[in-house]
Amino acid sequence: MRPLIAGNWKMNGSIASGTNLVLGILEQRAEHDPGCDILVCPPFVSLRPIADLIQNSPIKLGGQDCHMDKGGAHTGDISAYMLRDVGCQFVIVGHSERRVNHKEENRSILLKAKSAHDNGLVAIICLGETLEERKESKTLTVIKHQLEGSIPETASFNDTVIAYEPIWAIGTGLTPSNEQIKEVHDFIRDELKNNFKDSTEFRLLYGGSVNPDNAQAIFSINNVNGGLIGGASLKTEDFWQICNSL
Ligand code: PEP
Repeated sequence: MRPLIAGNWKMNGSIASGTNLVLGILEQRAEHDPGCDILVCPPFVSLRPIADLIQNSPIKLGGQDCHMDKGGAHTGDISAYMLRDVGCQFVIVGHSERRVNHKEENRSILLKAKSAHDNGLVAIICLGETLEERKESKTLTVIKHQLEGSIPETASFNDTVIAYEPIWAIGTGLTPSNEQIKEVHDFIRDELKNNFKDSTEFRLLYGGSVNPDNAQAIFSINNVNGGLIGGASLKTEDFWQICNSL
């Protein structure tokens, strides 16, 4: 399968800085295909100008979240239908910053993923344990619960990507050991086998403090099929180096 490197810009930058970032990626990508799909997930307000920039290029566009409904009285929300309309092919759902800061739970994440699918988007469904849960050896139990609760039973590798993001590794500079990443990714693959056909085709991303120095080692782990990159996706050079680490 072709790996995926996704940049989650979170609530950072401006239209001008996002434009520069993408122009840099486009310039590099025009010279060389690093052998992976490349996705950028800018803040909502930058989607339109970035969509225009990457039109007819191999760079893909995604939202950072969506509402579970197609439209209606939901002040401040954006639907999967709207993301598709503006040119997105992907949407991140269940990021830990949404789970924690917006009290999102598995059930609503599942409904968001369903809405993404219904509107022609690939859902990147995020899972991950807290540091406390890891210390209490609850990681695999938590992951199993999140997998069972937040992935629609109709999901397929064509419309769903799973991202394992230990919450304690996001934006902290801490990363799990390669053995710890392998354990969780192998576990997710096995769990998918029990519930989905073509389970080996699902892309499983690792996310949490990936940078140009550790990317190659992380991406060489079995069942790691790319990465979800936060901080390091905000600099063209770092992001491009990560894309070339597969
Ligand atoms: C993320 O927010 O998805 C993420 C992985 O962030 P960072 O790379 O900054 O840890």
